Amino acid sequence: MADSQPKIAGCTVDLSGQVALVTGASRGIGRAIALRLAHCGARVACVATSLEGKLAETVQMIHDAGGTAEAYAGDVGKSADVNRIVEAVETKFERLDVLVNCAGITRDGLLLRMDDADWDAVISTNLNSVFYFCRAAGAVMMRQRYGRIINITSTSAIMGNPGQANYSASKAGVIGFTKTVAKELAKRNITVNAVAPGFTVTDMTDVLPDKIKDIAKQMIPANKFGQPEDIADIVCCLSGRGAGYLTGQVIAVDGGMTA
Ligand code: NAP
Repeated sequence: MADSQPKIAGCTVDLSGQVALVTGASRGIGRAIALRLAHCGARVACVATSLEGKLAETVQMIHDAGGTAEAYAGDVGKSADVNRIVEAVETKFERLDVLVNCAGITRDGLLLRMDDADWDAVISTNLNSVFYFCRAAGAVMMRQRYGRIINITSTSAIMGNPGQANYSASKAGVIGFTKTVAKELAKRNITVNAVAPGFTVTDMTDVLPDKIKDIAKQMIPANKFGQPEDIADIVCCLSGRGAGYLTGQVIAVDGGMTA
C-alpha cells in the first residue's frame, strides 16, 4: 500500500506477491483482516453474500490505500458457490497463498427452543463453509506446495456459552477440523491454524442487550472488549512465511478470558 497510508500498529509481515482470500470481508473482523493483509502487500479476494454495499466498500478502502482487491459474492455454506469463487480467484490471480475463513453467523436460543432451521443455518455457514473452502483452496495450495490457512473459531467453542449450542458446536467443529487438516497438509508446507476471538466489537455483538455485555465484560481480565484490529493483527502474523512451523494450533485472542 502507499507510503502515505497511516502505519498500522502491531504485527506486520511482508505479503508482497501473495494472494489472500478472506470470507466475511464486508464487515467487522473479516474487513479488518482484509485491510491488514492488503496493507502487508497481499492482493485480496474479498468474499461476502453480495457484491454491493459493505463488500464494495471494503474493496474501495483497499483501492483508496493503493492496494489490490476484488469482490466475490456467494453463500459460503454452498459448495457450488465456494468452488466457483476459488476457481475465479485462481483464474484472476493465478495463485492463492492465504485463506482466512471468517464468515459466520449466530442464531442464538436455548436448546429446547432451538429449531432445526437455526441449527442448520449456523452449522452450514460456520462449519460447512470451512470444509468447502479448505478443500477447494487446499487443492491450489497443494499444487503450489505453500499455503497459510486461518480459520476463525470462537471462545464459545472452548468454554461453551448458554444460548449458543449451535454456534459453539459449529466453532468446536472448526477446531477439530483445523487440527486434522493441519496434520494432513503439513508436509506440503501448508499451515492450518484457528484463531478464537473473545467478545469483539462488531455488528454480531452490537445486537446483544447491555446486560449481556456487562456480564461478558466481567469475565475479561483485560476489562475491555476486543476490536476487529486485535484479531486481524494475530491473523496477519499467522499469514506470513515466518509462521511456517506453527500449525494445528488454536490461538485465543480474548483479553485473557480463557487463560
Ligand atoms: P459480522 O460483523 O456479523 O460479519 C459477518 C460476516 O460474515 C459478514 O461479512 C457477512 O457477509 C459474512 N457472512 C455471513 N453469512 C454468510 C454467508 N452465508 N455467505 C457469505 N458470507 C456470509 O461478524 P464478526 O463479528 O465480524 O465475526 C466474524 C467471525 O468471527 C465469525 O466467524 C464469528 O463467528 C467470529 N467471532 C466473532 C466474535 C465477536 O465477538 N464478534 C467472537 C468470536 C468469534 P454480509 O455482510 O454479506 O452479510
